This record gives sequence, structure tokens and C-alpha cells, in this order.
Amino acid sequence: MSKPVAVTTPTARPAVDLGGFAAIVGARHVVTAPADMAPHLREARDLYQGVARAVVKPATTEEVAAVVRHARQLGLAVVPQGGNTGLVGGQIPGGDIDAIVLSLTRMDRVREIDPLTDTMTVEAGLTLLKVQELAEQADRLFPLSLASEGSCTIGGNIAANAGGTAVLAYGNTRDLVLGLEVVLADGRVWHGLNKLRKDNTGYDLKDLFVGSEGTLGIVTAAVLKLFPRPRSRATAFCAVETPAAALDLLTLARRQAGSALTTFELVPRIGVEFVVKHIPGARDPLSDVSPWYVLLELSSPAESGLDEIMEGLLEAAIEGGLVADAAIAASLDQRAAFWTLREALSEVQKHEGGSIKHDVSVPVALIPQFLDEAIACVTAMVPGCRPVPFGHMGDGNIHFNVNQPAGSGDPAEKAAYLDQWDAMNAAVHAIVARHGGSISAEHGVGRLKRDLLPGFKDPVALDLMRAVKRAVDPDGLLNPGAVL
Ligand code: ZN
Repeated sequence: MSKPVAVTTPTARPAVDLGGFAAIVGARHVVTAPADMAPHLREARDLYQGVARAVVKPATTEEVAAVVRHARQLGLAVVPQGGNTGLVGGQIPGGDIDAIVLSLTRMDRVREIDPLTDTMTVEAGLTLLKVQELAEQADRLFPLSLASEGSCTIGGNIAANAGGTAVLAYGNTRDLVLGLEVVLADGRVWHGLNKLRKDNTGYDLKDLFVGSEGTLGIVTAAVLKLFPRPRSRATAFCAVETPAAALDLLTLARRQAGSALTTFELVPRIGVEFVVKHIPGARDPLSDVSPWYVLLELSSPAESGLDEIMEGLLEAAIEGGLVADAAIAASLDQRAAFWTLREALSEVQKHEGGSIKHDVSVPVALIPQFLDEAIACVTAMVPGCRPVPFGHMGDGNIHFNVNQPAGSGDPAEKAAYLDQWDAMNAAVHAIVARHGGSISAEHGVGRLKRDLLPGFKDPVALDLMRAVKRAVDPDGLLNPGAVL
């Protein structure tokens, strides 16, 4: 399923008295038993096996600050962790650092919901799903939406600047945050929980911490933007012949649906086949086979009117030859079934042997060209390999995953395929770079892409990033080895 990464065995380290952490957070919130630490030290794809002195679980901002100060005294690094769903190893301490994991999951209070300002002030450890539910109870929408929403935390989303399936309409996490409270490496607290939509009093420090992956500070709370709750939705699963046709459909959908267009996700035929094969009850909603599909969703705070827009849009798309066939969801169940064809794509690839991953973006207009070149490239490298490129076409972000050739299920075959991870990454990333794209669109850099970054990031930008890190965390206490 994943790239094999050598486990770094920590060199023998002198014992450290962890009693000081217990004095801050309470003994039962300092986890040291290997079995209890295990869920915090392994991540979903099994790419990393971490090593830590303890997992420390503070419940308040003051406790987080005290834990950071105490770790500094002991000479231990601090690796902040939310729901441990990150995909680039940013939340897992490697054996090369002497660290504690600082888990934010006990910081799960809602501090305020302000419906008139349309904001919600929450602590970092709330799950994204809980944040969505609380917004809904207040008759509002918090639009961030991603596959791991049941277990990822809002603090982790902020640290990673998470993307997901609603970016097209609402932006990345960065666009959804108005203010932050952050514990700094020296234990001070930045009280930046403002609700202002306009504040030009100098550098935007909030944007420095969003997406910093725990390397500059520990986000403990945030002011989030709320939006009107959609009262109607229209969802269609559309067959398109090529990514170029999908691009034309996107342009048409923008013109006809405007801001009601909330989702535009590309799905390849092989993805539909994998889902139908591996997810019980899943089925292909269209009768004819198509090489590509688009999951298209419109939403609106108005009670009605969307169905007409969707029908008009699909009619124009079919007449214009962009869409060969389409199904509109007639019920919530059907809508869920369409979404399964998109959301189960990561999961089902695990059942089809090794998968080499890329999370890349290019300018939206260049997606068809990028896909042509990247598919040709990996197919030439590994004849018979099965590219499953899918995702956020409306954002120019494709999860360019490539499954190993269909085979016997022999572990040696899989291992031999995964040995080509770095070479395939290099080839695909070179195509991305030629198209002015990014080698990490929404998953971050973490430990997985740290060593790739200097090959792609502007050297002046990297210099500035290092200068910021030195200024904010001169001793490299916070999440060393991630990003830079
Ligand atoms: Zn994604």
C-alpha cells in the first residue's frame, strides 16, 4: 500500500524524568506505555513508525504553554498532533529526534458561536465533523470537508491548511480562519483570536501559522468563518470523454451556476471499477462505460431553483458534446452513492496492490495536458501500471496515484513495484514543475516531501522560510525535521 520507509532506531538515550509533565497535565494524561502510545506513533498509510518519550495530553492553553516550557527545560522536541490523519508524516516524530508528542485532542471546547458576526471560536482538538455539526445546529455551514473529517481535528486542519472537496466554492482552510491563538516555542501565547474581516495592522501573522505544520507554533484555538447553510443541493454524475471535455464542462458550469457550483471532482473509469468491486453495494450509475467522469454538485441557501439550473447546465453540456451521459441524484441515498464513487477512491486502491502517490496541482487550464503527459510517462516507466488520477479538478489539484500492474498479489511483486516510488515521483514532479505546478497541493510537506522541497521551491522562498523558522523557533524545538 505504501512506500517502505526504513525505521530509524533511536540511539540509546539517557533516561529523563517525565514527572514534570504529570504535574502539569495529571499523571493519566502522560502516556508512556508502548501499547498506549502506538496509535499516536503510526499513521494511516504505515509510512512512518514514530518514536517518542511520551504522549502528553494537555487540556488548556496554559497547560500547552507549560508543557512546551518544560520540554524545553528537558531538551525534548515537541511534535504537535491532532487526529493523526496527516498523509506526509508531519505529526509523527522520527527516531532521529528526542521528542514528546503533544496531543491536542483534550482541547475540545467551543468557546463561542457568534451568529451575527458569522463566526465560531473553537479549540484545536475538536474533530472537523463536530465543528460541522455545531455550525449546522446554529443554522450555519462550516464548509471544510474531507474524507477523514470524522477523526481529523480542526487544529490539524489549520496546521496543514487542509483542502478537500469544497475548496472550489469556499477556499482552503486558510480562507476559513479569521483569528488564532498560538503557543510559541518559548511558551508565550499569541492571543490572536480576532473576528475581524478587515485588519491591516501589519503582517498577517495568522497566515504564517496556517499551513506551518506545527513548526512555528502550536495552534490551540481559532476563530472560524461561518456561512449560510445550504437548503438545496443538486448532484450529478457525468460521463465525459476526456479531461479536456471536463475542463470545458467546468467553464460552462461556472458560467451557468456561478457561486452555486461547490464541487467539481474528476474520477477515472478505473476508479469507478475499483469502487464497484470493493465497496459492498456500490454500483455504476450510468449504463455506458466512459473513460472519465465528473462529480458535480451545486448548492444554495435558497429552498428551490437549483434543479432547474442543473438541468439547464446538463442539457447545454450534452448538446455541446461535453457530456455523453449524466445522472442527477433523485434522493439523499443516491447523492450518497455518487459521493461514494469519489470518496472511496483512496480506500479501494489499497485492495489493488501497491500504489505510488502524488498530490499535485497545476493551473486548472493545464490539467488535461498534465494528465496526458503524466499518464504516458508512468506507463512508459512501468508497462501495465494502472494510473488512478482523481480529485479536485476545479482546484487544479489531482491525486495522481498509480497502482501496480494487475497481478498475483505476490508481496515481492508489490515490493519491487514500490521500489520505483522515488523514480516515479521524480518523473511526475518534473512534469508538474514544467507546468508551473506544486508537488504538494493539499497534504503538506511533513517528513515525506521535505527532501524534495529544495528541488522545486524557489531558493529565495526557502531562505525566507528558514529565516522565519529561526526567528520564531531559534532552537528548533517545534516539530524538527518537518517541512524544512
Ligand atoms: Zn484531496
